[in-house]
Parts: sequence; C-alpha cells; structure tokens
Amino acid sequence: MPEVSAHTGEFGGLVAAVTGGASGIGLAAARALAARGAEVAVLDLKPDDVPAPLTGLRCDVTDATSVRGAFTALRERYGHLDVLVNNAGIGAQGTVADNDEDEWHHVLDVNVVGIARVTAAALPLLRASRHAAVVNTCSIAATAGLPQRALYSASKGAVLALTRAMAADHLREGIRVNCVNPGTVDTPWVGRLLDAAPDPEAERAALSARQPTGRLVTAEEVAGAIAYLASPASGATTGTALAVDGGMDALRLRPA
Ligand code: NAD
Repeated sequence: MPEVSAHTGEFGGLVAAVTGGASGIGLAAARALAARGAEVAVLDLKPDDVPAPLTGLRCDVTDATSVRGAFTALRERYGHLDVLVNNAGIGAQGTVADNDEDEWHHVLDVNVVGIARVTAAALPLLRASRHAAVVNTCSIAATAGLPQRALYSASKGAVLALTRAMAADHLREGIRVNCVNPGTVDTPWVGRLLDAAPDPEAERAALSARQPTGRLVTAEEVAGAIAYLASPASGATTGTALAVDGGMDALRLRPA
C-alpha cells in the first residue's frame, strides 16, 4: 500500500469508485479524484459514457448481482479500494400524494438502499485500506423542507441519517463516512428540468436569481468538497455533512 501524506490531500496510488459517475456531480468528482492522482472506476448504468482515463464499469445500484459483479471486476483490475463515492441518485417531484407506491419504492431503492447495497459490497475492500473514506451525495433537501419534493426529501433525509450511522459503525475500522449537501447544481439533471419549461433560458435566469449567490452551484465545486472529504487531509472528519449550496442553508433560504 503506498504512503500518503496526511496533509497533501493527494490520492497518489489510491483507488476510488464513484457511482453515478457518468454524468454531472459524479463525473466531476471522478475527474477531481483522478486529477489528484487516484485511479478511478465509475460504476454507472452508462459505462460507455465515461471518458478516459476513468474506467467505466456497468452497475445498477438497485441490482445486488450487478453491484457484486462491478466490485468483482474492480477487485480484479485494481486489487484494492480506498475511496467510495455513493453519488448515484434520481429525483422525484410532487407532494406525498403525487408519487405512486412504485415510484416511492424505486426512488428509495436507488437513493437509499443503493448506498447500503454498494457500501456493503465495498466494505471488505475498504477494511483493508489504510485511507478508507466513503462520501455520500446527499442534498439540502435532507433538512430544508422543500415544497413539491416529498419523496426526494425523504430519500435524502435517509441518506443523511445513514451517513451518520455508517460513520459510527465503521469508525473503529478506520473507515470515515461523510456526505455533501449540494444546493442547486448545474448538471444535466437540472438542464433536463429547465428544458421542460416553456422558456428554458428565462427559467434558468429565474432559478439563478433565486440563489443567494445569483448563480447555480457548479458540479466542480461539489466535486472539490467530495475530494476533500475523501482525502487523508480530512482524516479527523467523519459523520458530517458539508453544505455546498451558495449559503442557502445558512441563510435559511429555499430553492422553491
Ligand atoms: P445526473 O442525472 O447528471 O447524473 C446521475 C448519474 O447517476 C447518471 O450518470 C446516471 O446514469 C446514474 N444513475 C442513475 N441511476 C442509477 C443506477 N440505478 N445505478 C447506477 N447509476 C445510476 O445527476 P446529478 O445532478 O449529477 O446528481 C447526482 C447526485 O447529486 C444525485 O444523488 C442527486 O440526488 C444529487 N444532487 C443533485 C443536485 C442538483 O441540483 N443537480 C442537488 C443536490 C443533490
């Protein structure tokens, strides 16, 4: 196992796995880890979308067989794993009455059970690492009380609770577990929502104007926070949530 300075924040010789890393925040996080020296495997439904030098591995986080297969491939390729970024996630809109039971089960399966499934598969490898870190992509929705986001908010509230519980469970094994709470981030996901509006550019301008900083958060800004929490530089930090929301939570604002 290579030596890593506790103060450089660099990932030379370390291996990272990023779920949902073919797009948006996950892709930016995978790139940020690779730029800092990690070898990065992206576990995604769309491995062919993953650009070099990242390695795309097909993985559906809702399917235990698919998850096990991805980690078998990862172990054969790299032999070890140090960083896991549980980022795969999907959205849902509406009040508690608007999503049917199948939607509830599916969103919770991707956003919450997916993290449990993937982390359980990764644990044997993480236990063998001297720099093991897990970073979950949560959301300000975990605590904000967002309108028209009942199911999504419930899923991210569970991600926050799971992050803290996992941090407690694996502390003595030397595995740190943290999460990032992004605000509204300029990713293909948000692009798709804007494109559905009658005037996407006007909608984008209005959405930006509602942010405390007057602009959306960038995927690279979230990726920087993920890289910090994944790095030995944050070695004393576990069970915490780092907001990357332009100050929205601190100002008690809501994206609406
Ligand atoms: P995105 O749609 O751009 O990317 C999501 C990626 O996840 C895609 O590559 C997709 O193929 C993959 N994915 C989806 N379902 C999967 C599955 N079952 N198995 C494996 N991969 C799967 O989305 P994004 O905006 O980058 O969001 C990424 C994460 O960030 C999500 O967890 C989301 O909840 C969270 N988040 C996003 C925002 C935002 O404003 N964009 C804000 C807060 C939190």
